[in-house]
Amino acid sequence: MKSFVPSADNSAFSLANLPYGVCSDAPDPSPRPGVRIGDHVLDLRAVETAGLLRNTTLGQERVFDASTLNHFMSKPHTAWRSVRTRLQALLAADNPELRDNAALREKSLIPLSRVQMHLPVEIGDYTDFYSSRHHAFNVGTMFRGPENALMPNYLHIPVGYHGRASTVVLSGTPIRRPSGQTKADADPAPKFGPSQRLDFELEMGVFLGGPDNALGEPIPMDRVEERLFGMVILNDWSARDIQAWEYQPLGPFLSKNFATSISPWIVPFEALAPFRVAPPAQEPKPFAYLLRERDVAEQPAAGWSYDIALEVALATAKQPLPQTICRSNHRHLYWTVAQQLAHHSITGCRMRPGDLLGSGTISGPTEDSYGSMLELAWRGTKPIKMQSGEERRFLHDGDSVVMSASCRSSDGQTRIGFGECVGTIVPARG
Ligand code: MN
Repeated sequence: MKSFVPSADNSAFSLANLPYGVCSDAPDPSPRPGVRIGDHVLDLRAVETAGLLRNTTLGQERVFDASTLNHFMSKPHTAWRSVRTRLQALLAADNPELRDNAALREKSLIPLSRVQMHLPVEIGDYTDFYSSRHHAFNVGTMFRGPENALMPNYLHIPVGYHGRASTVVLSGTPIRRPSGQTKADADPAPKFGPSQRLDFELEMGVFLGGPDNALGEPIPMDRVEERLFGMVILNDWSARDIQAWEYQPLGPFLSKNFATSISPWIVPFEALAPFRVAPPAQEPKPFAYLLRERDVAEQPAAGWSYDIALEVALATAKQPLPQTICRSNHRHLYWTVAQQLAHHSITGCRMRPGDLLGSGTISGPTEDSYGSMLELAWRGTKPIKMQSGEERRFLHDGDSVVMSASCRSSDGQTRIGFGECVGTIVPARG
């Protein structure tokens, strides 16, 4: 399907993608939902005001006259599909409704270069998982040796912790180096000061939508897709020295709560459907609540991993040109997004539209696919060599981490872009 918007068809933001975000521009500084098409943004508030979304399942209801996507996300998944289908039609080359309406086109189709992006969702709860077996194995090896690398629960439970929604920030927001308590093994006592082991974690974030499950009512595997709205790139900034001292027995706390960055565009799961792949085989077989009806009989649990190529690049004050330091893929996750959601809610935990689930660091099996600096530089023993001649064990002030993600069909015809998730480290507060 072709679009009348110039440059859209051959881009990673064609009609096959249509990710949602929230933007504003100089003529109208009020943040409002939009959908990205090529190097333009379609203003959804303007399109809805013009009555062009009335023949969707939304009918007369206004969901885009808002500064976040929460209202739209709270509608049933059938409404997301209906709106997406309608937007694809409205932007299609052979549809005159918007194409030939010069006034509305001028008002609603804004060049990307003119817009400012905002946090797209008011995030209710943020949970971060630990679902890459390679990452868990690497970190476990560093701390306990390869024989005891995986904790005994790892192959049974999608492990996670409850994170901090209030500090999820949009790509581009500067990241202040946190201060906290640290204690190296050799130190007799803890000390307080700026973190010396600031790290990134390459993750994908899943935004939930759909009407709440009632308190006490789990979301079964066969119905998870009613709740999976879309995905973003997520950087779970981590202060490793603070983490090492605080994490036992209750898990990460201040080492993670100072910032989590996300990319501005939420790619709908419908756009990712062609890139669904089987996750790694799961042995031992998970409990039935982590399998779909038909997976109970067959393995592996097909279909909830995605072939999304991921990259991390690093720039420094001395070397402004980002250098790729990691190439990974979403398909390396051991536990799938579906299993994460089924597990999260098996107690009857209420999951609300606008909740965010982090995948956990997505490390692959090879040394160049490790999704954190802790692993890439192997706890500081193998520093990353920059083209500038600098070395990095952990992040310095002035360093920028640039994460990107995209899908590409095997024939190269379809590309789905996520854009970038960027953050630059600024010095700790004096
Ligand atoms: Mn994490």
